[in-house]
Amino acid sequence: MDRDRRITREELKAALYEAYRRFKGNTDGKNADYIPYLANVDKDLFGISICLKDGEVLTVGDCNYRFGIESISKVATALLVLKEYGPETIIDMIGADATGMPFNSILAILLENEHPSTPLVNAGAISAVSMVSPVGNSRGKWEAIKDNIDRLCGSEVTLIDELYRSESVSNHNNRAIAWLLKGYDRIYDDPELSLDLYTRQCSLGVTATQLSTMAATIAFGGYNPVTKRRVFPAALSEKLTSMIASVGMYEYTGDWMFRTGIPSKSGVGGGIIGVLQSDAYIKQTTYAGEILAHYRGTGGFVGSIYPYQPTVDHDHDGATQKFIVDGKEEVYYKNNDQAAGVVGTANQAVNANQCNLEIYESSFTGSI
Ligand code: GLN
Repeated sequence: MDRDRRITREELKAALYEAYRRFKGNTDGKNADYIPYLANVDKDLFGISICLKDGEVLTVGDCNYRFGIESISKVATALLVLKEYGPETIIDMIGADATGMPFNSILAILLENEHPSTPLVNAGAISAVSMVSPVGNSRGKWEAIKDNIDRLCGSEVTLIDELYRSESVSNHNNRAIAWLLKGYDRIYDDPELSLDLYTRQCSLGVTATQLSTMAATIAFGGYNPVTKRRVFPAALSEKLTSMIASVGMYEYTGDWMFRTGIPSKSGVGGGIIGVLQSDAYIKQTTYAGEILAHYRGTGGFVGSIYPYQPTVDHDHDGATQKFIVDGKEEVYYKNNDQAAGVVGTANQAVNANQCNLEIYESSFTGSI
């Protein structure tokens, strides 16, 4: 097998279109409805975007539609505080551990000895927002948070006012988290100010194209391939990716990593980013798997994937590798372009989950 063959852009595009075509019609998912705005987002929206190392962005479907970034913003703010305080202080003040529980779990805080665990769950994210400078200054903090997201996304993102209002009147659970953490000295600014800014960052509108650029910037060590600007120091890339890999899909992260090998982060707005840091294998398959029901906690997703028990068939032809999965042949191509970024919206995030599966990173050898 020639493991070093570089697949062409045409092949990559073909895989992208194929993934889109295959999952576009799938409507097994369900919008998150605990935030009223999200319940009303068009369920048929669906797009996949891949940002490549040279800045070319491949898109298919609704990649210019603006939807709520939601929990994917946690990644950006984690980065902001990592940059400002350094990894050791973040471990100390927030943590970097997976909770194994839903994103908004209060129980997790109690079980983790009054600790927010990681900036990628609500508790740690509110804590992270509280640490952003200038402490006590809502406007200054907001500028820092938004500017950082703009730079990761490669273009300006804007608030979806209606979503912000909708979340602000329904975020009782998050308010409880903020005040609970305040009692444990894990909120480092005013709890209401921190909660408000967290809610606001979640309500930023982003497109699939912007999110894939963000994923690519993380994958490529802090260098934004679209703007050609460095957004953060390269050393933070692995810190951030380790967080994404360990808790990015919340309590389903282990299954997700096992099946896809792609460190990914979800948001209840319907987006998912995948960070591929090394050579990517693009899977082309005749297999149309069934989707299982998980992720009810975050509403918008059905996170789990089809039963996956591949038997490797070593009969491969030169440039590709063939596997037999559930009796069907799957062909893998290697892509040295380093792809990053994935997206879907609303109900169709379910499809993005599946499409995510189309873009593999050495999944059979388990390396990431
Ligand atoms: N703003 C949402 C919340 O705090 C984000 C949750 C998510 O995307 N998982 O509930």
